[in-house]
Amino acid sequence: MTRSIRPLVAGNWKMNGLKADLAIATDVARGCDAGLKAAVDLAICPPATLLYPATAALIGSRVATGGQDCALQASGAYTGDVSAAMLADAGAVFVIVGHSERRALHGESNATVKAKAQAAQAALLVPIVCVGETQDERQAGKALAVVKKQLRGSVPDGATPGTLVVAYEPVWAIGTGLTPTAADVAEMHAAIRAELARLLGKPAAAGIRLLYGGSVKPSNAAELMGVANVDGALVGGASLKAEDFLAIARACG
Ligand code: PEP
Repeated sequence: MTRSIRPLVAGNWKMNGLKADLAIATDVARGCDAGLKAAVDLAICPPATLLYPATAALIGSRVATGGQDCALQASGAYTGDVSAAMLADAGAVFVIVGHSERRALHGESNATVKAKAQAAQAALLVPIVCVGETQDERQAGKALAVVKKQLRGSVPDGATPGTLVVAYEPVWAIGTGLTPTAADVAEMHAAIRAELARLLGKPAAAGIRLLYGGSVKPSNAAELMGVANVDGALVGGASLKAEDFLAIARACG
């Protein structure tokens, strides 16, 4: 963790969740006790269909909501797309952009991710910009170079701690139960902080939250969250169980 940075634990529900699953969100809010509220920011990113009801169900709690993607355009003839302003209108505070599933399955380039992050900022949302290497890239010793290139291409100009979150998510760790070693996470997060300093200046980079994501569970959260420059987690599968999500959040407190 970085002492001066308030951690964020965000849940990415991906394409999971019907109305009945809003109970997961309300269970998280109920389980968020005073200690957790004092120490950690929490957010749930449900599918777009549940964003408004989730936000409404969480009113009065300290649990924010976020989108999982946004259009890079502000409005217009883009059938099926959802703009950042629409997410904000539905109550979102955050939006995940550049998740590896979007990069791989929808062919999103760094330039697209940057445009989406800028669209998010224009709508006063905080983009959670995801970066991470594939298994092949790590095995070839290219992980640091790949992630730095993604940052250079995806991070919006002039971002500040209040307008950007970065999530390091090794592609091979997402949904697989595999995680990098604490030493590998430490090396990567230090490199991300240094690259952000080059892009945005040292003072801004020093305050930007760097989340780790990829098979975070209650059993490994304390070790991963204890790594230097890890300021919280982006949680997929485990965010669909309120108890597990809360246990991960407690590991940050
Ligand atoms: C994710 O999809 O952002 C993620 C981190 O998934 P999981 O926690 O299931 O690996």
